[in-house]
Amino acid sequence: MNIHEYQAKQLLAEYGVTVLKGKVAYTATEAESAARELGGPVWVVKAQIHAGGRGKGGGVKLAKSVDEVKQLAKDMLGMTLVTHQTGPSGRVVKRVYIEDGCEIARELYLSAVVDRATSRVVIMASTEGGVEIEEVAAHSPEKILKVAIDPATGFQAFHGRQIAFGLGLKGKEVAKAVAFMRGIYDCMVQKDASQVEINPLVVTEGGDLVALDAKMNFDSNALYRQAKVVELRDLDEEDPQEIEASKHELNYIKLDGNIACMVNGA
Ligand code: ADP
Ligand code: MG
Repeated sequence: MNIHEYQAKQLLAEYGVTVLKGKVAYTATEAESAARELGGPVWVVKAQIHAGGRGKGGGVKLAKSVDEVKQLAKDMLGMTLVTHQTGPSGRVVKRVYIEDGCEIARELYLSAVVDRATSRVVIMASTEGGVEIEEVAAHSPEKILKVAIDPATGFQAFHGRQIAFGLGLKGKEVAKAVAFMRGIYDCMVQKDASQVEINPLVVTEGGDLVALDAKMNFDSNALYRQAKVVELRDLDEEDPQEIEASKHELNYIKLDGNIACMVNGA
């Protein structure tokens, strides 16, 4: 199960991961009051769909006044956003996130995934923030740093330092990065996430580390013990046939055209 960026940021913030102030809005009027409450002077209006690549598709826009926030939200809400992850039919934008604007010094990549080969959570990072990790893996795999965490010990500061030094972080940034990764790891394990991806993780002009984007996927087999996560489910983002199948506890995955997968274990 996937959740929206703003929901992932709220969850991660509970674990001490630094995110910017922001508010979700379902209408242009809500976006306007959100902008007023946040105070500016710069805001970013971000389409909330369960797919990445929104920036390139016109789903992430900078605004310099409350009126501009309102206008951008009006344009974005109801639009069909097409990105390389949505497929050609795109997704209709039903919520936008109004977030403080940020002065970016460096954009990095950070994620944590369950590695099935080693049965461990692996933290991955690269200096190529804002670029899809698949692209980095294809063109410059040497730039991807990886650290596997032994579940018996959990995340340790040295794991974090290894990644932080690999990213070229210096001074106080190193301790901030270690705390940041610990937050990601703890959130992932406690919430039964299968993936947390922060792309980009930015170093601000002031030397802070901030999650500017956040994507989280959850292990469906663990949802029975994650009631709070289940509340975040957005059925608008799911395929109607898959929703119907899930009501009957069927593992059904829709594919392109008129075929699908229906799988039984054992
Ligand atoms: P996506 O990955 O779907 O394109 P992101 O949230 O990563 O969406 O945003 C795309 C780009 O927009 C980021 O790489 C960053 O450069 C910029 N951006 C996003 N949020 C902010 C923000 N709050 N302030 C300044 N720039 C931002
Ligand atoms: Mg991103």
